[in-house]
Amino acid sequence: MLTTLFKDFQFEAAHRLPQVPEGHPCSRLHGHSFKMRIEVSGEVDPKLGWLIDFAEIKAAVKPIVEQLDHYYLNEIPGLENPTSEVLAAWIWQQLKPALPLLSAVTIQETCTSGTVFRGEF
Ligand SMILES: [Zn+2]
Repeated sequence: MLTTLFKDFQFEAAHRLPQVPEGHPCSRLHGHSFKMRIEVSGEVDPKLGWLIDFAEIKAAVKPIVEQLDHYYLNEIPGLENPTSEVLAAWIWQQLKPALPLLSAVTIQETCTSGTVFRGEF
Protein backbone atom coordinates (compact mmCIF):
# COMPACT_ATOMS: atom_id res chain seq x y z
CA MET A 1 0.00 0.00 0.00
CA LEU A 2 1.47 3.31 -1.12
CA THR A 3 0.83 6.35 1.02
CA THR A 4 1.94 9.89 1.76
CA LEU A 5 2.38 11.31 5.24
CA PHE A 6 2.86 14.94 6.12
CA LYS A 7 4.03 16.90 9.12
CA ASP A 8 3.72 20.64 9.55
CA PHE A 9 6.31 22.99 11.01
CA GLN A 10 6.68 26.72 11.32
CA PHE A 11 9.40 29.26 11.79
CA GLU A 12 9.74 33.03 11.86
CA ALA A 13 12.30 34.68 9.62
CA ALA A 14 13.20 37.95 7.93
CA HIS A 15 14.07 38.40 4.29
CA ARG A 16 14.08 40.75 1.36
CA LEU A 17 14.06 39.94 -2.34
CA PRO A 18 17.02 41.69 -3.99
CA GLN A 19 16.03 40.83 -7.59
CA VAL A 20 12.56 42.40 -7.71
CA PRO A 21 12.12 45.82 -9.32
CA GLU A 22 12.82 48.87 -7.20
CA GLY A 23 9.71 49.94 -5.32
CA HIS A 24 8.30 46.38 -5.10
CA PRO A 25 7.18 45.74 -1.49
CA CYS A 26 9.23 42.53 -1.32
CA SER A 27 12.43 44.51 -1.92
CA ARG A 28 12.05 45.93 1.59
CA LEU A 29 13.21 44.07 4.67
CA HIS A 30 10.24 42.26 6.22
CA GLY A 31 9.38 39.03 7.99
CA HIS A 32 7.01 36.11 7.74
CA SER A 33 5.67 33.40 9.97
CA PHE A 34 6.58 30.70 7.47
CA LYS A 35 4.61 27.47 7.44
CA MET A 36 6.38 24.40 6.13
CA ARG A 37 4.77 21.06 5.23
CA ILE A 38 7.06 18.08 4.80
CA GLU A 39 5.65 15.12 2.86
CA VAL A 40 7.10 11.63 2.65
CA SER A 41 5.81 8.90 0.33
CA GLY A 42 6.33 5.18 0.01
CA GLU A 43 5.13 1.70 0.93
CA VAL A 44 3.41 1.12 4.25
CA ASP A 45 5.27 -1.48 6.33
CA PRO A 46 2.82 -4.43 6.40
CA LYS A 47 3.65 -5.34 10.00
CA LEU A 48 3.88 -1.87 11.55
CA GLY A 49 1.04 -0.48 9.45
CA TRP A 50 2.84 2.79 8.94
CA LEU A 51 5.23 4.40 6.51
CA ILE A 52 7.55 6.14 8.95
CA ASP A 53 7.46 7.32 12.54
CA PHE A 54 6.41 10.99 12.66
CA ALA A 55 9.20 11.42 15.22
CA GLU A 56 11.73 10.53 12.50
CA ILE A 57 10.42 13.38 10.34
CA LYS A 58 10.58 15.74 13.29
CA ALA A 59 14.17 14.73 14.11
CA ALA A 60 15.30 15.19 10.48
CA VAL A 61 13.65 18.61 10.19
CA LYS A 62 14.85 19.99 13.54
CA PRO A 63 18.38 21.04 12.42
CA ILE A 64 16.91 22.79 9.39
CA VAL A 65 14.39 24.78 11.41
CA GLU A 66 17.22 25.70 13.79
CA GLN A 67 19.13 27.22 10.85
CA LEU A 68 16.13 29.30 9.74
CA ASP A 69 14.11 30.30 12.80
CA HIS A 70 14.61 33.97 13.74
CA TYR A 71 17.36 34.46 11.14
CA TYR A 72 17.76 36.85 8.22
CA LEU A 73 17.44 34.36 5.36
CA ASN A 74 19.51 36.42 2.89
CA GLU A 75 22.61 35.80 5.04
CA ILE A 76 22.36 31.99 4.75
CA PRO A 77 24.53 30.48 1.97
CA GLY A 78 22.24 29.47 -0.91
CA LEU A 79 19.45 31.79 0.20
CA GLU A 80 20.82 35.08 -1.10
CA ASN A 81 17.56 35.47 -3.07
CA PRO A 82 15.16 33.83 -0.60
CA THR A 83 11.90 33.54 -2.51
CA SER A 84 9.59 30.77 -1.28
CA GLU A 85 10.52 28.77 -4.39
CA VAL A 86 14.25 28.99 -3.65
CA LEU A 87 13.65 28.30 0.04
CA ALA A 88 11.60 25.15 -0.65
CA ALA A 89 14.31 23.79 -3.00
CA TRP A 90 17.03 24.65 -0.44
CA ILE A 91 15.12 22.80 2.30
CA TRP A 92 14.72 19.80 -0.03
CA GLN A 93 18.48 19.68 -0.61
CA GLN A 94 19.21 19.91 3.13
CA LEU A 95 16.57 17.36 4.11
CA LYS A 96 16.68 14.66 1.41
CA PRO A 97 19.87 12.93 2.67
CA ALA A 98 18.37 12.57 6.17
CA LEU A 99 14.88 11.73 4.94
CA PRO A 100 15.12 9.65 1.75
CA LEU A 101 11.32 9.19 1.54
CA LEU A 102 10.88 12.97 1.15
CA SER A 103 8.40 13.67 -1.65
CA ALA A 104 7.40 17.34 -1.25
CA VAL A 105 8.31 20.52 0.61
CA THR A 106 5.57 23.14 0.85
CA ILE A 107 6.41 26.65 1.98
CA GLN A 108 3.65 29.06 2.83
CA GLU A 109 4.69 32.64 3.54
CA THR A 110 1.25 34.17 4.01
CA CYS A 111 -2.20 32.74 4.77
CA THR A 112 -2.99 32.58 1.05
CA SER A 113 0.35 32.18 -0.76
CA GLY A 114 2.77 29.29 -1.02
CA THR A 115 4.78 26.95 -3.19
CA VAL A 116 5.34 23.20 -3.46
CA PHE A 117 8.70 21.66 -4.45
CA ARG A 118 8.66 17.98 -5.44
CA GLY A 119 12.20 17.28 -6.50
CA GLU A 120 15.45 18.47 -7.97
CA PHE A 121 15.43 20.98 -10.78
ZN1 LIG B 1 8.39 38.12 1.94
